[in-house]
Amino acid sequence: MLPYPLIYHEQYDLHLGDHVFPSKKYKWLHDRLLRTKFAEEGDFVAPPPATDEDVLLVHAPEWVAKLRSGTLSYHEILQLEIPYSRQMVEAFWLAAGGTILAARSALERGLAFNVGGGFHHAFPAHGEGFCAINDIAIAVRRLQRDGAIQRAMVVDCDVHHGNGTAAIFSGDQSVFTLSIHQFNNYPSEKPLSSLDIHLADGIGDAEYLHRLGNGYRAALSMFQPQLVMYVAGADPYYEDQLGGLSLTFDGLRERDRLVIWTALSHKIPVAIVLAGGYALNVEDTITIHANTAEVAREVLQRPG
Ligand SMILES: [Zn+2]
Repeated sequence: MLPYPLIYHEQYDLHLGDHVFPSKKYKWLHDRLLRTKFAEEGDFVAPPPATDEDVLLVHAPEWVAKLRSGTLSYHEILQLEIPYSRQMVEAFWLAAGGTILAARSALERGLAFNVGGGFHHAFPAHGEGFCAINDIAIAVRRLQRDGAIQRAMVVDCDVHHGNGTAAIFSGDQSVFTLSIHQFNNYPSEKPLSSLDIHLADGIGDAEYLHRLGNGYRAALSMFQPQLVMYVAGADPYYEDQLGGLSLTFDGLRERDRLVIWTALSHKIPVAIVLAGGYALNVEDTITIHANTAEVAREVLQRPG
């Protein structure tokens, strides 16, 4: 048994057909973790979907209604950049339910890993960049509403700026948003996070880890969150089709170790979500996500 739960639902697939976003990766990662005997069936917990009430803690009623009824405008679908389907909407609600469950489980067990989620480009009243609703923000808001936490920190290491999350929590002193990303990349408009670490094209392991470590450690000791939401995007990888940074597998493992260990060593629980990953070879994306799960186990089992 793993020392932490893997949250997963077989309906996480967004059913995108032939698309740069390999949304079958959730199933592929699930299968890989079992096949390599990293995990057993009993390590996986299937989440219930988020309720509309949960989603409305973050999103505008009009946007939720449009997603529910399939009445998005042509422009809204273009902006979302994925085809609309009933299954896609159900999958987003499940992903949000999974991230809520991961956050809650993290508070109980120190760490939890959603084999999905990380839809950081979703804004309150519109979706974009493959993200219809923002599961990260929904989970934070739900736990705050339940009184389980007051302060949370989002550590967004996807190669793309966490624009939706930044906009949602803009001016909210209870949520610290950190985004480390390639500056010359989508989204062109980057609403201010609490801390934005803008990276130049082609940055590799050493500079990435140095800048993330400095920013993150300073933010943690200043803000002292009760929960870290780690957005563990696989797309800073050097062979990513939508990313322009140059991290290696080892660099990405170091990144995971840095984010997870630093929080846990301060007794701050960590909930992990996947976010993006568009490696030329999809197996590389699965490897990067699987490595994050491995690093999490290694850190939890580290003595002291
Ligand atoms: Zn991304």
